[in-house]
Amino acid sequence: MPLIKASCPTCGDVELTLEEIRVLVCSSDGQASYNFRCPGCAVRVSKPAEKAVVDILVSAGVALSFWRMPAELEEVHAGEPISYDELMQFHYELADGSFFERLSESARKREE
Ligand SMILES: [Zn+2]
Repeated sequence: MPLIKASCPTCGDVELTLEEIRVLVCSSDGQASYNFRCPGCAVRVSKPAEKAVVDILVSAGVALSFWRMPAELEEVHAGEPISYDELMQFHYELADGSFFERLSESARKREE
């Protein structure tokens, strides 16, 4: 079975099987990384990877996964941030016990 040499910040060079490495590509910005659990210290190691490294790892048989940035990052935020007082008011509303009942009642009225 082919082994891939990688580097753990604690243990130094380690050898991994293809199944022990995973390549992750962000489909939002194209940045890639690979990660593995170090066979020496069991720490999960993640390192950025250039396209050439991704191509080599994937062509060798390493699993490739895509992920994307949360859509919330593209939301437009307007207005002031919530204040401490508003946060405390929300906390007491939640502690009331009937908050979700009142919330769904309010949503139902809006639909009518
Ligand atoms: Zn290690």
